[in-house]
Amino acid sequence: MILGIDIGGTNTDVVLLKNGNFEVFGSFKTKDFDLNKIDLEYDAVGIGIATWFKKGKIVKAPNLDRIPNIETKKPKVVDNDANCFAYYSAKVTGKKNVLSLTVGTGIGTGIVVDGKIYHGDGLAGELGHSYVGGRRKCKCGGYGHLECYFGGWAIKNIKEKIKNSSIYETRGFRLFCIAVSNAIMLLNPEIVTFGGRIGGRLKEDVISEEISKLIPDLFKPEFKVIKDDYAVAKGSAMLAKDLIFDIR
Ligand SMILES: [Zn+2]
Repeated sequence: MILGIDIGGTNTDVVLLKNGNFEVFGSFKTKDFDLNKIDLEYDAVGIGIATWFKKGKIVKAPNLDRIPNIETKKPKVVDNDANCFAYYSAKVTGKKNVLSLTVGTGIGTGIVVDGKIYHGDGLAGELGHSYVGGRRKCKCGGYGHLECYFGGWAIKNIKEKIKNSSIYETRGFRLFCIAVSNAIMLLNPEIVTFGGRIGGRLKEDVISEEISKLIPDLFKPEFKVIKDDYAVAKGSAMLAKDLIFDIR
């Protein structure tokens, strides 16, 4: 059995991968989570966490007040949460070249190239912290980043705005679409997926239409909103399974 854990800005979700099937174990507040307190027998653990990585080490956590204890004696794979979401997206859609955006407390980006997560020098895929203009202060310490205009901490009452569709009229949504269109031109993904507690509730047809207006027709990928709050946790478990047990 493999544990899959999604450590987000606010919540930490835990799933179990058993004989190819997922079970939800539970959700915790990230500030209270401790892997040692999970009273389960498991063979390995995959962890997706909303932090920046360099050379496999966590170097910054713009949206986490505290990094929970994730020490364990079991084999462990730890990666950026959006990377785990992108991996999950690739697995469930059967696509090998994937761009993924998670919108929750912050904005995460994951890139899968030829079926593998693309890390660059470690930090690849941080569209949320790319400059889009202005002087709003970002949680990472920078200014004018996409995350300052779109996402959970930047837009007041964002859940209501999604429900009544006024989110699509915001400057933040416009900036989000522009940033994603730029990433599409850079990567030419087969599919772009959206997830997270906010991103997973956006309308696929509106996103698809708005982003498609910004790119040449030939570059148009598929767009898919993944409505599964456990996608990061599941992707983390799948990544652990593939990296730890399926090495040939
Ligand atoms: Zn930033």
